[in-house]
Amino acid sequence: MQLIDGKQLAKTIKEELAQEVEQIKANGGKIPHLAAVLVGDDPASKAYVGSKVRSCEKIGYKSTLITPAADVSEEELLGIVDKLNMDPDIDGFIVQLPLPKHIDAEKVTLAIDPKKDVDGFHPQNFGRMALGLPCYLPATPFGIVTMLDRYNIETSGKHCVVLGRSNIVGTPISLLLSRKAKVGNCTVTITHSRTKNIAEEVKRADIIIAAIGIPRFVTEDMVKDGAVIIDVGINRVEDPTAKRGYRLVGDVDYENVAEKCSFITPVPGGVGPMTVTSLLTNTLRASRKEVYG
Ligand code: NAD
Repeated sequence: MQLIDGKQLAKTIKEELAQEVEQIKANGGKIPHLAAVLVGDDPASKAYVGSKVRSCEKIGYKSTLITPAADVSEEELLGIVDKLNMDPDIDGFIVQLPLPKHIDAEKVTLAIDPKKDVDGFHPQNFGRMALGLPCYLPATPFGIVTMLDRYNIETSGKHCVVLGRSNIVGTPISLLLSRKAKVGNCTVTITHSRTKNIAEEVKRADIIIAAIGIPRFVTEDMVKDGAVIIDVGINRVEDPTAKRGYRLVGDVDYENVAEKCSFITPVPGGVGPMTVTSLLTNTLRASRKEVYG
């Protein structure tokens, strides 16, 4: 079994990006600039955005954090989005989800200029991804594809079973892996909460992508010998021995499954750290106008 070390890979990619920034500076080019909008003070969102902004600073990007209060009106927030769309120095920006209930998140996502949508959530980018056109890939699926690529894991002709069909993970990764591309050409089965005999489906997989948010759902008996496992789940389970009283586990029963696999991602330290590097890569692509010219 080989561990897919997302933490290490993310570090390597950030070093590569930092070198690119050095090069840009040396050539007198434009420094990539990412903005993040964080509405209210949800602790998890604060932590996510904080890590994105710190990563920007570490690799030499410019970053701007905008923090409207939780009671900001939808109109005001759309005004902020509009300003960011128009600002020529901002290459890309994100509006951290979830948003407070009085704001229509879909309306906000639609208001973001697709050219600056480095989260890849705008329907235009999603549609372009589905068609195999240049686009910003959504962060988590992009991270997964990068892991498979950098670890030279063969995907062509393999049977991939995806657990979960969310718009941010399950559905886009299913599309990407079935596309005619270097990391792709898989035969993909998407499973979800209404799938019958899910264990049988998963057992046939050469590659398992687990993204359902149920701790240790994928057990040893569901995994074929030599399978590749990408565990996207991040779940809190009680652990009185841990400092915070809980620890994080994935959707896969790692302890019992790992030995059966050819490759597996740990939780934490697997897919999670790759999400931020995807965003940083998309921002560099935006500053170079690689996608939309
Ligand atoms: P979601 O809650 O939006 O969707 C869950 C999906 O799982 C749904 O499509 C549902 O049909 C399916 N599902 C639910 N119960 C099921 C069951 N019993 N059997 C089969 N399918 C079932 O989830 P999401 O936003 O895609 O997130 C999934 C997990 O991945 C969560 O633990 C989340 O925290 C984690 N996540 C991690 C990252 C990362 O960077 N590592 C990014 C996004 C999400």
